[in-house]
Amino acid sequence: MKKTILVTGGAGYIGSHTVVRLLEAGMKVVVFDNLCNSSSTTIERIERISGTRPEFVEGDILNEDAILHSLQKFSVDAVIHFAGLKSVGESVSNPLTYYKNNVVGTLNLLNAMRQLNVKTLVFSSSATVYGTGSTPPIAETAPRSVTNPYGRSKLIVEEILEDLYRADPDWKISVLRYFNPVGAHPSGLIGEDPRGIPNNLMPYVAQVAIGRLQFLSIYGNDYPTIDGTGIRDYIHVMDLAEGHLAALNYIDRKPALAAFNLGTGRGVSVLQMVDAFERATGKRVKYEFANRRKGDVATSWADPSLAFQEMGWKASRSVEEMCADAWRWQSTTL
Ligand code: NAD
Ligand code: UDP
Repeated sequence: MKKTILVTGGAGYIGSHTVVRLLEAGMKVVVFDNLCNSSSTTIERIERISGTRPEFVEGDILNEDAILHSLQKFSVDAVIHFAGLKSVGESVSNPLTYYKNNVVGTLNLLNAMRQLNVKTLVFSSSATVYGTGSTPPIAETAPRSVTNPYGRSKLIVEEILEDLYRADPDWKISVLRYFNPVGAHPSGLIGEDPRGIPNNLMPYVAQVAIGRLQFLSIYGNDYPTIDGTGIRDYIHVMDLAEGHLAALNYIDRKPALAAFNLGTGRGVSVLQMVDAFERATGKRVKYEFANRRKGDVATSWADPSLAFQEMGWKASRSVEEMCADAWRWQSTTL
């Protein structure tokens, strides 16, 4: 029988790409999203790409009854939980909003799931839970520490899930720690659409290339790295989407609470990323060097070997594909 998956935040960046893959894998999907950082046109686009329209509920995870209603109405088997706020800077200015949305919202979801005996969950965590103290490659066993309310909201939820699993081992929980998601669906129909001036490197680069922003400020050229600029583990959003499918299959086969890094295991500097983008798109990206950004680490990349050993998943797309796909989305749709 077809499995039904409720995807909170399924109209957002990573959620929408995952929904496409779930539908392509023959699953039934219910998107549950309040559209605070997305738009319902994404649902039409998901249908255009996959040939199937997911169910869509415009709902808020702060409303437990609404979650209960959807879980019941669609006889949901498992939940992938993307819904949340994700800006580090905003979380520093509005910590209560972040804790309410990310922590209280998740508690509501877990309560609703428990009441209906839906105990399979994939949770969007982040490499930010590793803080600044670890030397890459970072394995899942690295100590966790956080420096801002956004990161703390992810760490708190990870700890809540650990307590929940200890109290009731019937739960099947996969915690996925993403490194740096970039790129877009190769159709160019869905991708990342940050509001205002982007904070992250890839959307900023794409907006410079299209002429919406004048130049990229590269934060720091005096790091102890190959060219002095910061190094990160960029992962194509389609690889990430496939990681969620692998996680769902894994917890079905091997019920547990397990945390996995989703990264490529390859570090790329800011200048290497700019160069790859220029080569993949034929567009110039003007840049200037600026001071280091507060709170940034010099280097961060994953040890993704556990996800391969346990779930058989590994990232396969190149940096050039990430750039070409991000550009197709930026230049044809946005
Ligand atoms: P996104 O903002 O594009 O998607 C999140 C979606 O959740 C949006 O569609 C938004 O409307 C919805 N949402 C937010 N609050 C909600 C609420 N209270 N009720 C219902 N829906 C709500 O973000 P994304 O980049 O797709 O991130 C998805 C998840 O992955 C988030 O939990 C984020 O913290 C995590 N994550 C993202 C990154 C990244 O760099 N993009 C890295 C690590 C972890
Ligand atoms: N970065 C930059 N200019 C920008 C945005 C980011 O030089 O306008 C650098 C940043 O210092 C880091 C890398 O690009 O070294 C990735 O930054 P991003 O914010 O995308 O991810 P994070 O730092 O959260 O891993």
